[in-house]
Amino acid sequence: MTKIAFIGLGNMGSGMCANLCRAGHEVRAFDLNAEAVKAAKGHGAIAVATIADAVKDSEIVVTMLPAGKHVLAVYFGEDGVASHAATGTLFLDCSTIAVEHAREAASKAEAAGFLMADAPVSGGTAAADAGTLTFMVGGPDEAYAKAKPILDAMGKNIFHAGGSGNGQAAKIANNMLLGISMIGTCEAFNLAEKLGLDAQTFFDISSTASGQCWSMTSYCPAPGPVPTAPSNRDYQPGFAVTMMLKDLHLAAAAARAAGAEVTLGEMAEKIYQDLDTRGHGGLDFSGVMKDLQQRLD
Ligand code: NAD
Repeated sequence: MTKIAFIGLGNMGSGMCANLCRAGHEVRAFDLNAEAVKAAKGHGAIAVATIADAVKDSEIVVTMLPAGKHVLAVYFGEDGVASHAATGTLFLDCSTIAVEHAREAASKAEAAGFLMADAPVSGGTAAADAGTLTFMVGGPDEAYAKAKPILDAMGKNIFHAGGSGNGQAAKIANNMLLGISMIGTCEAFNLAEKLGLDAQTFFDISSTASGQCWSMTSYCPAPGPVPTAPSNRDYQPGFAVTMMLKDLHLAAAAARAAGAEVTLGEMAEKIYQDLDTRGHGGLDFSGVMKDLQQRLD
């Protein structure tokens, strides 16, 4: 049993926190939203009203927050985690944030005598609830070793991607590829259909040919071939356009900073930005298909 502070009990954090409780850990749960804290208590966590109270006696602090500014504020802001945690505590940030923010947080933590790892996730709320997330971890070996049993309680696949920030790097590079492959898959299905093939026929051929990819076989953007895909429920998410856009913004910014050329990544960013600007940010990211076929307003 490990004493854990969990901060950020939103769509993802609530299920992750519940799984830590289920695994027998003592979890002190905090969120700015009192309702979220109450729900965590219902799942077996100890409800607390301040970061100081959450961090008290904890060996590990897990955070699942919206963006880098929240992460830096929660750990290093006034009355934040670093002001109250015992030396040697592991800070485990599972949020999706910029690589540079993750590295800034890690060096601040290290300078103050703490261990830190970035551990962003792949998988949505269903995987968070089921404890089947994929974690991509960046940080020193000691931090990874301490984090691993905790991550095992919340996920199925845990990867050590290297030093600080490498978890975030893996996450945004993967999601940039996902955005690009989804748009490509939508264009291919739309083209095939316009040329006279029905979606199932094209799927049967392409899913066993060289065009095969996850966006097609697990999440087909054309209704029909993959029954669980959001395309069969009028593109309700799933993984919303706004969330894909967040990751593509992070990828494009990181690519600029690193001097990496990401022509298709920037094009995908533009396509999702355009959908969002036209008011379709809540659509599943496979909704590019709907836009191609119906030209949404
Ligand atoms: P969310 O907005 O539902 O939850 C964030 C929670 O953090 C909220 O409950 C909010 O009240 C809390 N919070 C914000 N600032 C705080 C502070 N200063 N102190 C305490 N609590 C604070 O977001 P989410 O969907 O759970 O996503 C969390 C992270 O996971 C994001 O970085 C997101 O990009 C990433 N992510 C989400 C998904 C998904 O499908 N939702 C999938 C993969 C990764």
